[in-house]
Amino acid sequence: MHRCRRCAADSVINMRQHRLALCEAHFVEWIEQITLRFIKKHRMFEPDDRILVAVSGGKDSLSLWRILLKLGFQADGLYMDLGIDAGCSYSKRSGEYVEKFAQNLSPNVKLHVLDVADIYGKTVPEMASLRRGGKKKSCSVCGLVKRHEMNRVARELGYTVLATGHNLDDEAAVLFGNVLHWEAEYLVRQSPMLPADGVGLTKRAKPLARFYERETAAYAIICNIEYMQEECPFSVGATSLRLKEVLNSMENSSPGTKLQFYFSFLRAKENSLLPEGQRPELRSCERCGQATGAPGLCAFCRLLEPARAASRLGQD
Ligand code: SF4
Ligand SMILES: [Zn+2]
Ligand SMILES: [Zn+2]
Repeated sequence: MHRCRRCAADSVINMRQHRLALCEAHFVEWIEQITLRFIKKHRMFEPDDRILVAVSGGKDSLSLWRILLKLGFQADGLYMDLGIDAGCSYSKRSGEYVEKFAQNLSPNVKLHVLDVADIYGKTVPEMASLRRGGKKKSCSVCGLVKRHEMNRVARELGYTVLATGHNLDDEAAVLFGNVLHWEAEYLVRQSPMLPADGVGLTKRAKPLARFYERETAAYAIICNIEYMQEECPFSVGATSLRLKEVLNSMENSSPGTKLQFYFSFLRAKENSLLPEGQRPELRSCERCGQATGAPGLCAFCRLLEPARAASRLGQD
């Protein structure tokens, strides 16, 4: 048994990659202080910002919400019911974890709940079926819907920052995929903080991007956060899981690999070692008014266009 580096009590976690073992209290303090440092380093937000945290019911987003409130930031939650059932009521049960978590927060903190099918008449799997394509389409449509709706809600309700709970395992896998295929445009945009821009894209921040999944899970368990442990049924077979497996095996033989990979990438960006990507000129979508790189309709409105056209025909 290792001893806590700070107080010599029995440790609850030994982080080989940091050569650091800590007891419960010091681990919680460490996570919160490192998060604050990361927020400041990447100029994510200030105490007077109004932050909207996208909460899925999983450990990362619920931990993020708790950490931001503990650090004294103004953070409300947004739960999007995507209508994923797949025989296990996935969205419904995830929402129950979020609501239960939010009930124990201060009455000044709000949880916004958005039901995609209530607003657009279709769940995310139904929207995915509108699109031709292989097995991967559910996740790409889901990502599109989530980005569109998060941004819409933040704009309409006056939030200045959108925060998501992506962890290091997520970020390293995305980076690995982008490097493998040399997706220069995505590499340029991959960042723990994306600033707002004039045509209505709200600033985005990923304050937990430097923590291993094992660390955010330990934080959630120590803080008694009850969270949805099952993965989304559509994640089975996802490329990101295969990339994570490769990175995990490298991490096992050489602790710290993922962190070093991610931090080296961020340093390269800071030192302008990556080409400046061409961000497409953004304009407002003709239907919903949100920012889009394409002329006419944004990708979200284009996705829903066949269903709208069919319902218009039905009315004629
Ligand atoms: S695994 Fe895919 S479908 Fe499921 S929540 Fe994530 S992005 Fe959406
Ligand atoms: Zn200690
Ligand atoms: Zn649009």
